[in-house]
Amino acid sequence: MAAKADVLDRAMDLLSLDPGLRAVLRRPRRVVTVQVPVRLDNGAVEVFEGVRVQHSFARGPAKGGVRFHPSVTVEGMVPLAAAMTWKCALLGLPFGGAKGGVACDPRRLSAAELERLTRRYTAEIAPFVGPDLDVPAPDLGTGPREMAWMLDAFWTLRGRSDPGVVTGKPLCLGGAIGRDEATGKGVAACVRRACERQGIPCVNARVAIQGFGNVGAVAARALAACGARVVAATDSSGGVFHAHGLDVDALTAHKRRTGRLAGFPGAEDCPAARLLGLDVEVLVPAALEGQLTGANAASVRARIVAEGANGPTTPEADAVLLANGVLVVPDILCNAGGVTVSHAEWAQARDGVTWEAARVDAYLARSMDTAWEEVSRIAAERGVDLRTAAYASAVGRVAEAVRSRGV
Ligand code: NAD
Repeated sequence: MAAKADVLDRAMDLLSLDPGLRAVLRRPRRVVTVQVPVRLDNGAVEVFEGVRVQHSFARGPAKGGVRFHPSVTVEGMVPLAAAMTWKCALLGLPFGGAKGGVACDPRRLSAAELERLTRRYTAEIAPFVGPDLDVPAPDLGTGPREMAWMLDAFWTLRGRSDPGVVTGKPLCLGGAIGRDEATGKGVAACVRRACERQGIPCVNARVAIQGFGNVGAVAARALAACGARVVAATDSSGGVFHAHGLDVDALTAHKRRTGRLAGFPGAEDCPAARLLGLDVEVLVPAALEGQLTGANAASVRARIVAEGANGPTTPEADAVLLANGVLVVPDILCNAGGVTVSHAEWAQARDGVTWEAARVDAYLARSMDTAWEEVSRIAAERGVDLRTAAYASAVGRVAEAVRSRGV
């Protein structure tokens, strides 16, 4: 039977939710748009559009990234904010979901201009965010530097130090040890569990990775460390392939030195399009959304697709992969390691303590494991794929919170 296009509908059907509750869960709770005027280095003023979409507060403060990218729009942020709600609920974190940012090209702005933009955006959304309300984090085009500026802008506005106001901060300001590696490690943990489920030994399993950034490179390292063979990796510059497995540490050093994967000594070139159809056991899309489509999904030969990126598989591709027996580990489970350690960072800020690396790692491993077990259980009991099961778990938890609070 062909899967219905919308996974949210499938999950809501499984849960037999009534129409009113469905409408509450589908729509964002609050959408804030702001004007962000910035004085440029040449003295001129440019006005940027800022957005913060808060999808749900049902289970706690909203949580989600701040993106500085030309594509930022309200329409684009709504599904991403909703995905944060489901991801946090699936992992059992006491958060709702949010997403936002500023429509700008950060590569066109100087560091001083970016700082002014970040501070002004923060001031504009300040009435709607805070440690008990909505906790921003880095996303495309932002990182620890921007989080430090946001933290300082809040401090300036409110006259008190509030390290729980953002996560993804530099370590010196209360960032969590291990946050940088959390998403990639979580992806690797999911790949190990998926291999077990498919009866594929992880040792020597061939892995192809699309995107060699924060998520892809860390997942590659973690998988190589447990004996898998990372045979191919691509980034925006091209890609590399070696049938016996790439030396991931040397590849990481090469990428750090040259800024690109292409040209890695001893490896063949691997164009982006070739990577998706490689004869491997595991494919990890860890770059952009919409990479596996109705047009190319049939060429996937991997037995496992582990979604490191957010939304890398279109609904059409999902149906093709399902029909072809490919196990897809959905993004809201697979890449949830990052927000899990962000929760650890927020909790540390509230308690005024610092967790050592081993505690962060144990929290991450336990959380991912628990979520995996829950998703597998629902998939088996209800006879559905992992994505539908993950959404059923997440949506069920948010629905229960909404019902308990009452309208
Ligand atoms: P990043 O910017 O560190 O890395 C992205 C990588 O993708 C880069 O190597 C880039 O060169 C590559 N890339 C870009 N276009 C490509 C293309 N067409 N083909 C192949 N590679 C391409 O970003 P990241 O933090 O690793 O995030 C990657 C994805 O994971 C995004 O979808 C992001 O939303 C998602 N994600 C990230 C985190 C996190 O903690 N960083 C958490 C959850 C989800």
